[in-house]
Amino acid sequence: MRVILMGPPGAGKGTQAEQLIEYYKIPHISTGDMFRAAIKDQTPLGIKAKEYMDAGGLVPDEVTIGIVAERIKKDDCKTGFMLDGFPRTAAQADALAKILSDLNVTLDGVVNIEVDDETLLQRLTGRRICKKCGATYHMVFNPPAKEGVCDKCKGELYQRSDDTLETAENRLKVYNDQTEPLIAYYSEQGLLKGIQGKQDINKVLQDIISALGQ
Ligand SMILES: [Zn+2]
Repeated sequence: MRVILMGPPGAGKGTQAEQLIEYYKIPHISTGDMFRAAIKDQTPLGIKAKEYMDAGGLVPDEVTIGIVAERIKKDDCKTGFMLDGFPRTAAQADALAKILSDLNVTLDGVVNIEVDDETLLQRLTGRRICKKCGATYHMVFNPPAKEGVCDKCKGELYQRSDDTLETAENRLKVYNDQTEPLIAYYSEQGLLKGIQGKQDINKVLQDIISALGQ
């Protein structure tokens, strides 16, 4: 099973990723992990990537694509893989197609977990943290007994600056702008599997599996 997993922040992508790699027995290839491993192993591309990152710049596409290619050629990817965080652009998607065609394999599908913006904002802004003991709550999914007060220590609950409406709206806008061309790209190729993410997490998983097949 060769699959790309996509979904906006707050869509529950992490949870689904964990379940899917277990179900299909494939490695989870996230861009962040891949970069960290290449840098740690000091591969030529890892060294290059580190130079760009240390200089505070973006890692150029050719380096990122090279690191992905190295990773996909490893033995544990022979029966499949799940890509997460790559590709991010249509140009990267083209490069991935080239890597896979060189290996004589094809993608089975591109899963896009869909959740409306209103629900995502509610999920992304609901987190509250206790100032005293650090316990976390969610205004919708795990609210404290008394608003603004920690159940455990009676400490005051606050909202992190990363969790404000403005920040969340920004994250979603950046995500949507970035992924729109990619979604169009895979939709044209008939690979896109849109999955309703606003339902029970087990149902989301079942829907993904039935869309992808065995
Ligand atoms: Zn507390």
